[in-house]
Amino acid sequence: MRAVRRFTVRASLPESLSGLGALATNLRWTWHPPTRDLFASMDAELFNRIRDPLRMLTALPPSRLAKLAVDEDFLARSRAAIEDLEHYLTEPRWYQEQDGELPDAVAYFSMEFGVTEALPNYSGGLGVLAGDHLKAASDLGVPMVGVGLLYRAGYFRQALSLDGWQVEHYPVIDPTAFPLELLTERGRPVLVDVAMPAGRVLHAQVWKARVGRIPLLLLDTDTDANDEDLRKVTDRLYGGDADHRIRQEILAGIGGFRAVRKYCELTGHPQPKVFHTNEGHAGFLGLERAREIIQADQLGFDEVLPAVRAGTVFTTHTPVSAGIDRFPVDLVQRYFGDGRLVPDVELRAVLALGAEENPGMFNMAHMGLRLAQRANGVSALHGRVSRRMFSRLWPGFDEDEVPVSSVTNGVHGPTWVARELSALLGEVGEGGLRERVGDDALWALRRDLREKLVYEVRRRVRAAWLQRGASPLELGWTETVFDPDVLTVGFARRVPTYKRLTLMLRDPDRLRALLLDEKRPIQVVVAGKSHPADEGGKALIQQIVRFVDDPAVRHRIVFLPDYDMSMARYLYRGCDIWLNNPVRPLEACGTSGMKSALNGGLNLSIRDGWWDECYDGSNGWAIPTADGVTDPLRRDDLEAAALYELLGQQIAPLFYDRDFEGVPGGWMSMVWHTLETLGPRVQASRMVREYVESGYVPAARMVAAATSDGYKGARSLAEYRTKLGTSWPQVRIFDSELIVGAKEPLVVGTEVQVRARIDLAGLDLSEVDVQAVVGKVGDGDELSDVVTVAMHPDGIGAFAAEIRLPYAGSLGYTVRVLPKHELLASPAELARVHLA
Ligand SMILES: *Cc1c(COP(=O)(O)O)cnc(C)c1O
Repeated sequence: MRAVRRFTVRASLPESLSGLGALATNLRWTWHPPTRDLFASMDAELFNRIRDPLRMLTALPPSRLAKLAVDEDFLARSRAAIEDLEHYLTEPRWYQEQDGELPDAVAYFSMEFGVTEALPNYSGGLGVLAGDHLKAASDLGVPMVGVGLLYRAGYFRQALSLDGWQVEHYPVIDPTAFPLELLTERGRPVLVDVAMPAGRVLHAQVWKARVGRIPLLLLDTDTDANDEDLRKVTDRLYGGDADHRIRQEILAGIGGFRAVRKYCELTGHPQPKVFHTNEGHAGFLGLERAREIIQADQLGFDEVLPAVRAGTVFTTHTPVSAGIDRFPVDLVQRYFGDGRLVPDVELRAVLALGAEENPGMFNMAHMGLRLAQRANGVSALHGRVSRRMFSRLWPGFDEDEVPVSSVTNGVHGPTWVARELSALLGEVGEGGLRERVGDDALWALRRDLREKLVYEVRRRVRAAWLQRGASPLELGWTETVFDPDVLTVGFARRVPTYKRLTLMLRDPDRLRALLLDEKRPIQVVVAGKSHPADEGGKALIQQIVRFVDDPAVRHRIVFLPDYDMSMARYLYRGCDIWLNNPVRPLEACGTSGMKSALNGGLNLSIRDGWWDECYDGSNGWAIPTADGVTDPLRRDDLEAAALYELLGQQIAPLFYDRDFEGVPGGWMSMVWHTLETLGPRVQASRMVREYVESGYVPAARMVAAATSDGYKGARSLAEYRTKLGTSWPQVRIFDSELIVGAKEPLVVGTEVQVRARIDLAGLDLSEVDVQAVVGKVGDGDELSDVVTVAMHPDGIGAFAAEIRLPYAGSLGYTVRVLPKHELLASPAELARVHLA
C-alpha cells in the first residue's frame, strides 16, 4: 500500500531534555561545533550518519532518551549549550555597536537558500550565498528577515547511468520532518494569498526556519486551500515553463512581502523598511509595496515610486544578457491585467518597469534597476561588466557613471572552515601566524584534511559504482583510489557551458601525463550537476565520466555524483588546488574558491569574478586568458595549454619540493600568505558589513527622507520629475569655452577657466548641477580619466569654473547639466544629462 500523504511525528522529549528542541530547530548548530558535539554525544555513530539534530531526536530509541534524561553530565552540558544559544540570540553584536540611524529590520529576498544540506532548498551558488548572507547577518546582529519559497522537491539528486549519463531523481521533502515551524494564528496556519487570472486565488502557508538570530520565511503552496494545479506552484526550484516561473516569482515577491508583514504583525518583529533582492526574481515585491502606500496614504504611483526605490537594494548576478530573467509581455499582462493582483497599480506602470529593447519582453533585471535606488554586481569586475551591460538605461553617461556598484561576495567562515583548522589558527587577527603555529603543524593538518577527503572519495566512488550496477566483487580497486600524499586538485560546480567542465580534457594525453607522473603525480576530483533540461551539460559530464572510467587513470581522477553542501565541505577542505576555468568574464563572482582559500587551498583560476581583484601573484595562480581570441576552440586550446603548463611546471614542482622534514616550504609560504591576506577579505561578514554601510543604512536614511511629513520628499521628487518632463528638453548649453589667462605655455597645474551660457528653461539654480569636465582625450575625442568641477553662476545665464589642468598630453573638456534633488543617490539616477 502507498500512503496518500506523509508526515513526521516528533519525539516527545522527557521534561529534562525539552530544551534540546530549541537547539535542534535553530540552524545555528550548522556553524557551531559545540552544539553538534552535544548531539553527537547522544549517539556518535547515529549522528555521523544523519548529521541533523532534529532527526537525531526522532531516531534515538526512547530507552536512550530516558537514560540521557537522568544523565547529570549530559544535562549540564545541554544546559550550557542552551544558555550559550540564548546568549547568542540576545546579546549586542557588531550592529548594535554602530552609530547613526540604522534600519530596524531588513528583508532579504531570494529564490533559494542553501543553509544546510539538512534543508535542501537550493540548487547552487546563489542559494549558498543567500544562506551565508543570513548566517553572517546573524553573527553581526543585523536584524534581517529572509524570504523565499519552500520547494517540495528541493533540488534533484544526481546519479549516473552505466554509460555516464546524468540521471535525476527528486526526493520529495516532508516539511514536518525539517527544522521548520508553520506560522500560525490562533492555532491555524496563516495563509498568504495572491490573485491569479480568471478569478482564482493562490494560497500559501508560511514556514519559518531559524538561522541563528534570523527568521527565514518560506512560502509553500502545497496546502488543501489550493486546487491540484495551484498546489504545484512551489513543486520544484527552477522547474517548468515561463508560466510556472512567473507564478513562483509573483508568489516570492508579492506573497513574500505579505508574509513578512503578517509575520511582523504576529510576532512584534519590527517591520522592515529596507528590502534587498538577491537577483531579480522577487522584484514584483516593489509593486506590492507601492500598492500598500497608495492605498494607505492616497498617493499616486509616481509619488510612491521614490519611496519604494529608496528602500530597495538590488543585487544582480548575471554577466550575460542571455542569462537575464525575462517574460513575454502578454504573460505579464495575463497576471496583472485584471488589476486584482496589485490593485491600484496600473498595468501600464507595471509594464513600463520591465520594458527593454524588445517590446515583446518584460525584463526582470530592468524592473529590478527601476525599482531599486541602489544596485550592485558581485565582484569588481562584474560591477564593470554590469555597468556596460545596463548602460543603455542611462544614455549620455559614461559606463563608469552607470549607477551599479559592486559588493564582492563572501563566504561564511564558521560554516566552511574545518574546525581543526580554526582550532589550530586560533583567533583571527593575531599577526605572526606562521611563527606562532609553524609550517609543520599546518602541513600536518593539511595532510590530515587531504586524507579525510581521500576516504570520502573512496566511499563515494564505491557507492556510485554500486548505484551504476557494479557488483561489490569488482570494486576492490576503489579501496586504493587516491593517495593522501598526492597533490590534489578539485573542480566542482554546476556545469553551464561557460564554466568549461571539460577544459582539462582538451589534450587528454597531457592530462594523463600529469596524473601518472612518476615523481610528481596529481590527482583530480571533479563534481557537478547539469540542469536537468541541459543536454549539452549532460554530454560534458558524460565526457568526463568516460575519461575517469578508464582503468589506467581511475585511481588518480574521479567524478563524484551528487555535488551538494555535504560533499562540498570535504572538497574545499581537502584539496590543495582549487581549479576554476570559466570563460572570462562570465563568472560573476564564484565563491567555491574562497571556501578553499579559507582552508589553506591555493586557487588556480582564470582571472574572473573575485579572483580578478584578489589574485596578487603569491596567493595562487592565474591562468592567462586568451582575451581577444574569438574562435572559442582556439581559445580553449590556448587556455588549456596554459593550465597544463602551470600544473606541470610550477605547481607540482613547488608542492613536491620538500625540506629534510618533508615539508614544502615554498608551498607553505603561499598557504600562509593566502590564509593571512585572503582570510579576512573573502568572509561573508565583510560582505554583509559592506551591504549595511553602503546599502542598508543609506537606504534607510533615504526612506526616512522620502516618507517623513506625509511623504513630502517623495512627492517633491515626483513633482520635480514632472517638471523635468517639460523643462528638461528645453535646456540648452551655448558658447562653452576654455579661457587661458596667462600667455605662458600650458603646463600641468595651470589654472584655466571654463565658461558657458546655459538656458535652464525655467529650472531653478538649485534644481540642477552644472559641471565642467576635463579629461584625457583619445582619437575619438572620447574623454577619459575625467575631473569634474561644479560651475558657479557668473552673470545672467552664464556659468564658470576654475580648473587646474590635471594631466600633461592631449586634454579635452566639456560642460554638462544634470538634475539635482536631495532624494537622488546618484547624478545619473534619472538618466538625464545635457552635454555641451
Ligand atoms: C559554494 C558553493 C557553490 C558555488 O560555487 P561557485 O564557485 O560559485 O561555482 C555551489 N554549490 C555548492 C554546494 C557550494 O557550496
